[in-house]
Amino acid sequence: MPETRISLLDLTRAELAARLAERGLSPVHAARVWSYLYWDCVSSVEEMPDLPAKVRAYLEEEFSLPVPAVANEAHSADGFTRKFLLALADGRQIETVAMRFTGRMTACVSTQVGCAMGCVFCATGQQGFQRHLAPGEIVAQALHIQRLLRARGIAPGQTAYERLRNLVLMGMGEPLHNYEAVMQAVEILRASSGLAIAASRITLSTVGVVPGIVRLADEARPMSLAVSLHAATAEERAALMPAARRWPLDELMNACRYYCEKLQRRIFFEWTLIDGQNDTEAQAHTLGALLRGLPAQVNLIPLNPTTGFGGRPGQGLAAKRFQQILDEHYGLPSTIRQRRGVDIAAGCGQLAGAPPGVR
Ligand code: SAH
Ligand code: SF4
Repeated sequence: MPETRISLLDLTRAELAARLAERGLSPVHAARVWSYLYWDCVSSVEEMPDLPAKVRAYLEEEFSLPVPAVANEAHSADGFTRKFLLALADGRQIETVAMRFTGRMTACVSTQVGCAMGCVFCATGQQGFQRHLAPGEIVAQALHIQRLLRARGIAPGQTAYERLRNLVLMGMGEPLHNYEAVMQAVEILRASSGLAIAASRITLSTVGVVPGIVRLADEARPMSLAVSLHAATAEERAALMPAARRWPLDELMNACRYYCEKLQRRIFFEWTLIDGQNDTEAQAHTLGALLRGLPAQVNLIPLNPTTGFGGRPGQGLAAKRFQQILDEHYGLPSTIRQRRGVDIAAGCGQLAGAPPGVR
């Protein structure tokens, strides 16, 4: 029978308290349920033994607590990256990646099943769009990683379980195409008594959905923003990313300027290096000129090869030269990401290294 109950993971703490209050149940119980969900990371209402029977009965009756099953799992050879294929309640599958950088755990979560944006180099884009994720399905991915950390126990010399510190919305899907659900999930993930992931440690990556970027600025959303650029002229960008026809480069750059000015914040620009296609000296100059005056940082990421795209990863030497031009001619800071986890196509064949904003 299809699930008709509301997922507990779809609710903010205030919404959960309001639901319980409708039944005359005290906010004390809501606080306890919340800490069971996000501190103890329980997988069922049965694991909330000290709640009064009437509270548990209400939870069982009205709410579900979906725990995605691991359909597949891969570890990178260096041991720093683990990729999970998680099965949702309707059987559809998404990818979630746990990555360890400088000792801290980062979760890379999906926001949709598939993606409608069709970027030619992207494994998810090659699949097409299936459906949006609900907020709780995004939250459940972070909880999955937190459960792994808890399962390892308390490390020697520590007094508590390791917490998930960083989150990147860079898995399958375009987060700004599923704006409401993503913002709701971020609010739940940030809640101080829950997973408590600091907004400064959450990065949203977009293909360049212009109205979404303007909305992030107008609503002063606190997470970091990364924009996938990959090309610095309208024609070259449209050839790689069909979404660039809908939201042209000049409109995108205007939205980025608006965002930076309004929020007094920098933007990370992602540039996937494709050998001979977008890693030439001329393209480095075009990019430098395009970003002039913007508080920007460029993340250069060698392409992760995917079956549906013939391009090859940019070569190390070209990447270094590219970086040097950005720095010397335009004073533009950039990083070259290692191809960590590439052996397991980490992040839907997308992530090749530490995402922007991760410390
Ligand atoms: N839809 C969003 C976020 C998910 S993709 C976006 O496009 O930004 C996360 C990042 O991985 C994007 O910068 C995307 O361009 C990049 N990416 C996708 N496929 C890749 C591949 N095969 N190799 C390297 N990076 C890739
Ligand atoms: Fe979608 Fe991002 Fe992949 Fe483009 S790169 S198809 S926007 S997930």
